[in-house]
Amino acid sequence: MAQSLIDIGTIPSLMYINGQWTESVSQKTFATVEPATREMLASVPRGGQEDVDRAVQAARETFESAQWQEMRADERARKLWQVAQLIRKEKATLAKLESLDTGKPLSQAQADVEAAARYFEYYAGMADKIFGETIPVSPGILDYTVREPIGVSAHIVPWNYPLQITGRGVAAAIATGNTVVIKPAEDTPLTALYLAYLVEQAGFPPGVYNVVTGYGHEAGDALANHPDVDHITFTGSVQTGSKVMAAASRNIKPVTMELGGKSPNILFDDCDQEEALNWVVRSIVQNAGQTCSAGSRLILHRNIYDQFVEQVVRRMATLTLGIGINNPDLGPIINDKQGSRIEQLVEQGKQEGARILTGGERVLVEEAPHGFFFKPTVVEGLGPDSCLAQEEIFGPVLTVFLFEDEEEAVQLANGTPYGLVTGIWTKQIARAHRMAKKIRAGQIFINNYGAGGGVEMPFGGYKKSGFGREKGLEALRNYTQLKNVAVKIGD
Ligand code: NAD
Repeated sequence: MAQSLIDIGTIPSLMYINGQWTESVSQKTFATVEPATREMLASVPRGGQEDVDRAVQAARETFESAQWQEMRADERARKLWQVAQLIRKEKATLAKLESLDTGKPLSQAQADVEAAARYFEYYAGMADKIFGETIPVSPGILDYTVREPIGVSAHIVPWNYPLQITGRGVAAAIATGNTVVIKPAEDTPLTALYLAYLVEQAGFPPGVYNVVTGYGHEAGDALANHPDVDHITFTGSVQTGSKVMAAASRNIKPVTMELGGKSPNILFDDCDQEEALNWVVRSIVQNAGQTCSAGSRLILHRNIYDQFVEQVVRRMATLTLGIGINNPDLGPIINDKQGSRIEQLVEQGKQEGARILTGGERVLVEEAPHGFFFKPTVVEGLGPDSCLAQEEIFGPVLTVFLFEDEEEAVQLANGTPYGLVTGIWTKQIARAHRMAKKIRAGQIFINNYGAGGGVEMPFGGYKKSGFGREKGLEALRNYTQLKNVAVKIGD
């Protein structure tokens, strides 16, 4: 049995291919740092084409092996369930590791670990419930469908929710009988590596779960372009998603795209303002705004505009910033590049006439003078075509708009290239459903935002937020392909 990691300091400078801890073929490494302090957490292999080749080959050989092909679905299920239990057992270590690697508050990292455990539990329960159908064709034909695994499933993961997003895709892929190759983000590779220990302890054969660490333009590009990968699930920015789609198109490989968002909370004047306030603030400051489903736009009815904006500003101004592990309200921005992007966008917003009601700038945090922290920010006074209304900022910046009637609220909500999530706040049930129908987004929350993040709810985008769905039963479609069998049984 593999040794469990107790001490974060023991993380090896290795990646995980075919059940082995290994260096990159080039033997090059790069550092993963703690965003708040800029101290090195670990040095990890800088994987490239040859490492991706090795990982894909291992995943392919295992996928085709008799051991894997003949493993009963209920056995896969028990092993996945075991991974969930191991994640819970290692919760403290995993949460600490995730908080250090991403900079996010410890409490949020703990919630991420619990979500990862839930993904493994949930898809464990599905492994032996993947059904086909029988189709009436003619009396002499028995026609049925079978859902089969696709084969080698590639997972390209972003830095904002590394463990959750790895768990989300990998648990569904393995439940349906695939083998996986994961390319974590260069900023946050540690929990996907740690998970390898747990997958191994749960008794999965070597080659089912492989991790190639490295840069996007090297390891990520090699994985997206690999001809022997059968499906790619990509979570990240629109720009990179477009490159991954282009690569997949050359090999005619299916992709699932989980991309960005510019999600609104829409508040009517009859809503429960106290409840809405909690979620409006939480949805933009969670993970310092570095969340694909962040509620980054606030669309307010004229009658409550002034008083609600005042409350949001007051609440945002009192939030604490600090080192994630000390559990502040907001941790640091992941790196300087992302921090500068937030600054530039806010600057551009100012030039377009934005009024900054609170925040709007970087702040020095005494306990972590080298980290990049950005004050929780509220801006108003912008038109719907301005950059702060259109661009995904990926920082704690909330842009506020006013509406007069339902039609205007819908226009504002739908008026960006994205369509990931929308929150609708009203006590009028008919209006809530009318709005839900008109909003072009993959997920609508009425009088809440997130519903606790349940792993059971299908999640994904309209428009440039992507296509395909992760989470819930719907995700099983990503990781299976359908075979139709027609049998002549009579004349
Ligand atoms: P990113 O697109 O920069 O990187 C995502 C992953 O792609 C990383 O692993 C990176 O190394 C890799 N990559 C980079 N270049 C590549 C290339 N040429 N070929 C293949 N892979 C490559 O995104 P990010 O900055 O890590 O994450 C932020 C983005 O992710 C935001 O837009 C956010 O909205 C989105 N996101 C979406 C969801 C969702 O489920 N919809 C969840 C989290 C994040």
